[in-house]
Parts: sequence; C-alpha cells; structure tokens
Amino acid sequence: MSDKRDYYEVLGVSRSATAPEIKKAYRKLALKYHPDKNPDDAEAENKFKEAAEAYEVLANAEKKQRYDQFGHAGVDGAAGGGGGFGGMDMDDIFSQFGDIFGGGGGGFGGRRGGGGARQRTARGTNLRVKIKLTLEEVLEGVKKKIRVNKLVNASGVTFKDCQTCKGQGRVNRVTQTFLGAMQTATTCSTCQGTGKIIDKKPAGADAQGLERKEEVIEIDIPSGVEDGMQLSVSGKGNAGPFGGIAGDLLVVIEVKEHEELRRDGQNVHYEAFINFADAALGASIEVPTIKSRARIKIEPGTQSGKMLRLKGKGLPSVQNYGTGDQFVHINIWTPQELSKEEKEIIEKLRDSENFQPNPDGKEKGFFQRVKDMFSN
Ligand SMILES: [Zn+2]
Repeated sequence: MSDKRDYYEVLGVSRSATAPEIKKAYRKLALKYHPDKNPDDAEAENKFKEAAEAYEVLANAEKKQRYDQFGHAGVDGAAGGGGGFGGMDMDDIFSQFGDIFGGGGGGFGGRRGGGGARQRTARGTNLRVKIKLTLEEVLEGVKKKIRVNKLVNASGVTFKDCQTCKGQGRVNRVTQTFLGAMQTATTCSTCQGTGKIIDKKPAGADAQGLERKEEVIEIDIPSGVEDGMQLSVSGKGNAGPFGGIAGDLLVVIEVKEHEELRRDGQNVHYEAFINFADAALGASIEVPTIKSRARIKIEPGTQSGKMLRLKGKGLPSVQNYGTGDQFVHINIWTPQELSKEEKEIIEKLRDSENFQPNPDGKEKGFFQRVKDMFSN
C-alpha cells in the first residue's frame, strides 16, 4: 500500500538496533541533510524529512512496536497526518527534535509542533486580593464587589500578526554548536512568542498594548469557606500582552472573628452564663446564633460545664456535605457582690443537705462530655 521506505532502512540501522544507536543514526543523517548545509536542495530536504519521520516513530517505544508489528499501516497518521514525507513540516522537526542538534532550542524541545502557535500566547499574570467576610456571610455565601487595579487591553488598541514570525510566535534561528551552524526554533523576540503585535496604539497603551485600570469585579463566594482559603476566578487577572489570555484573580478569604461565637471548622461554640437560680430551678434562655438567636431550655439542676447542642446551627461545608452544629457551654455565674438580704437567704441555704456537692458519676468530666458530643 505505502510507497514509503522502511524506517530502519531509512536510518540505516538493523531491526535490533538500540535506542542510542537509532538516535545516533538519525543525528548523522539530520546533520548530513540539514537545510543549512544544503540550501535550495529539494532532495536533501526530502531526505531530511524522511529521516525525521523515521526517527519520530522508532524513537517512540509505542510507535516502534506498532511499526514492527504492522509496518507503515500501524503508524500512518500518527507520524504526522499520513501521506508521504510531507507529513511533518520543518517547523515540526525543529521544534520536536531541536535538542538532538545540541543547540539552544527555543524551549519547545520534545513537544509536538504544528498549530501550536496560538496555544503559546503569553498569559497575563495572576492578581491576588483579600476579602473579609463575616460568619453570617460564610453561612449563606455572598456576592462581593471588589475594586481591582489591573492591566487591561488599552481602549482602542488593535493587534495584528507579527511580521517577524508571520504570526507563528517562533522563528528559526541559526546557532553555533560543536557540530557546526545549526538551525533551531526559538521564541520570536518581536512578539514574545504571542504571534501578535500592536496595530493601532492609543496614547495610554504600554509596549504590550495594555493599560492600568480600576475595575469592579463581582465575586461569587460559596457558603462554608474558611479563613485562608483561596478561590480562583479564571480570566479576571491581568490581561495578557498583545491581546493574549488574561491571568486569574486569586481571592484569599479572611473570616472576621465573631463577637460572641467561636468557629471551629463547621461548628461554632458559645459560652452561656446563667445564674444559680436558673440552674437550680430550670429556665429558658436566649443565645445568639450565626443568623439570629435561639431559645434553649435549661433543665432544673443543670451543672456548670454542661454542653448543649443546637443541631444544624453551624456552618455548611464548602463541598456541600453536611452542616455543623452550635455548642452552648453552660457556665454558672457566681455573684460578685451580695446585698444584706441576699446574704441572709444564702446563709440559710449554706448548710442545707441538698446544697452539698454529691457527684454521682453522671457529672462527667470535660473530656468525657466532649467525647459524648461527637459520638451521637
Ligand atoms: Zn513574532
């Protein structure tokens, strides 16, 4: 089917040749038929391309195996669009095998060339901003408008293809190596590899067609974020040079301390102080929650240190699984000063039998209480 020569024959190596032998053979041919040494010699160029194509297959373990098994049919298409030696163009060869010449390649070594110019468009830099949120904003998620001073395409600027590289973003450069003068592909310095240059340059534009501008950006912050988290808003950073892709806006979350509640991951904690009478007689007290307030019941005979749980009154997780709880820690407030009447009443109670501490084991220590809380 194919009129192509056998790849091993092209490189002049045996079927059992090792990878270094194959590389060495290719290097020899590439140097012999290099376009710099054979200007305007179509036959040399074909030999050069033929060797490159053979090397592309035989230097790749997977392709080599397919070629060994199925011949050209196994790798056609894989070797550059199929159809004769024209499958690989010179740019492909230099960008792919530039390193074999030992010159300072343009940084594209090992990468498949061809049609990649647009992908190399220089990207704008990322911007980083800090956003302060309240716990309430964390609870429900929030849209925030922030002012960002950033690089944008200057108003009125237009871009056109770079003439130096014909919009390719790279140029073939002749470099001196120990093997002689060699041509390698390098990033075009005129357009910095973007393939574009400024066409119409307005007064305010810099050399890359950009200007600094303040922009208001709306950021959607999901619920449940934590202090120190970083959100990335794609494409809202600095614009890229010469109309390139913009960088990202990185939003660092800072959660403000709540006046009364302490956050611990998805849970929040509140220290409630009740008086001795409420603890002894039972009561209903109001406590703050993230969003509003909640009423909780204090059972008669409540001990100091008791912990109550308000299920689901914590924060959602940012990945949307489950919601935390609010824990209310009960502290019994001892009066700092007493009036004469109060003193008399309490004096009467001092020796009452019921007032003598008598832990019966139900009054668990702090660590046991915490353990219980998290096990049910
Ligand atoms: Zn250029």
